[in-house]
Amino acid sequence: MIGGVVSFIGLGGNQGDRAGHLQAALLALTEHPAVRVINVSRVYETEFLGEGQQDAYLNACAEVCTTLPPLAFLGFLQGIEIAEGRRPNTHLQPRPLDLDILLFGGFVQRDPGLFLPHPRMRERAFVLVPLAEIAGSEIFPDSRETVTEACAKIRRKDGSGVALRPEIEIWAGP
Ligand code: ADP
Ligand code: MG
Repeated sequence: MIGGVVSFIGLGGNQGDRAGHLQAALLALTEHPAVRVINVSRVYETEFLGEGQQDAYLNACAEVCTTLPPLAFLGFLQGIEIAEGRRPNTHLQPRPLDLDILLFGGFVQRDPGLFLPHPRMRERAFVLVPLAEIAGSEIFPDSRETVTEACAKIRRKDGSGVALRPEIEIWAGP
């Protein structure tokens, strides 16, 4: 694959074999001919913070390069979510796998079908902590702050709940 856009993806899940679903997603990304996985963060565990009760999530981030256009890339990610057992319309509900496009090159767009940068990522330590590990110096194309700066802000608010799980290893395959 020659050329392409660098994108950062958030991976998460809180149902079933959580690490297995993250791993399956990385392998599916690796196997797509128009996607190359460049780097993967370590795995973190976070207690559920929203309304009601849910099991804890595992989260990680990946850097990829792709020649797919953004909507086709999102469609590919949604296909992986479904292959891992996610039911439709489970926004804010427990799910085996959630794949979000955090950054897609320097794209800024406010389409609810694909909002870039991801609209809620800067309020979420469980996204920014793993992302800062692999993309600390990336600059948000809309606010011009770096991932490290955004991460430091959110850590002061709620970063203490994000726990590194070094014993859970995921890899991007050959
Ligand atoms: P969440 O991840 O916030 O729980 P979902 O995974 O259920 O939400 O996604 C709901 C919708 O969000 C998707 O159908 C998708 O079209 C839309 N969406 C908007 N921007 C993005 C993005 N950057 N990455 C992934 N999905 C997005
Ligand atoms: Mg999602």
